[in-house]
Amino acid sequence: MTTQRPTGEDYTLLTKEEGILLVNLTTGEEQELQQTATGLSCDCFWASAAADGHCPHIEIATALLEGETSKPELQQADADTYLARIAALDATQAANAESARIQTSRIETWLEVETEKLDRRRAFYLHALHSWLVLQGQRSKRLVNGRIALRKQQPQIEILDEEAVVADTRFQRVVPQQVLPDRRALREHILKTGEEVQGTRVTLPEPKLYYRIAKGA
Ligand SMILES: [Zn+2]
Repeated sequence: MTTQRPTGEDYTLLTKEEGILLVNLTTGEEQELQQTATGLSCDCFWASAAADGHCPHIEIATALLEGETSKPELQQADADTYLARIAALDATQAANAESARIQTSRIETWLEVETEKLDRRRAFYLHALHSWLVLQGQRSKRLVNGRIALRKQQPQIEILDEEAVVADTRFQRVVPQQVLPDRRALREHILKTGEEVQGTRVTLPEPKLYYRIAKGA
């Protein structure tokens, strides 16, 4: 974050219902402003330091909004600049994801190694206690620091030949057939016939903007 107090020059305002994005197209600095019931709010350093919550961003945005009647329409060059800003956001997002991936993988490896080490150490103590309890000829023992006990284990059953097991009707389990909507058939039918199929609702979303950043942009 820049510590230079921003001034009104070089700022552009992008508006949506939820708020405003104030962009300095020279430095690439971006600041989001939220539209609240009491006016604009900002989460920047200056806003948090000011008693009234005001900051240069709010001042600039307010001034730009007031002059909006004379604001020229978006030019092609502006559209291209916006696409470049999107490319910069994409690049940052990709770098963040890669950094998070590397760090997550390091943390997972660390945890795995530490867990294995502690498991191994614990196993030594458990082995010694197990042998001692068996030697005592006891099934359980209360000690100052806790209690140890030998617990009977459930027999483990492994299926080696599934067909042979299923051949015996006593060990059959019939999985009921499931009836699920065939989304692809439904889509194809509706697109072809325009029929309003019972139990469905068809809506046509607004066209969506797609973008592709030019190579080397
Ligand atoms: Zn601010």
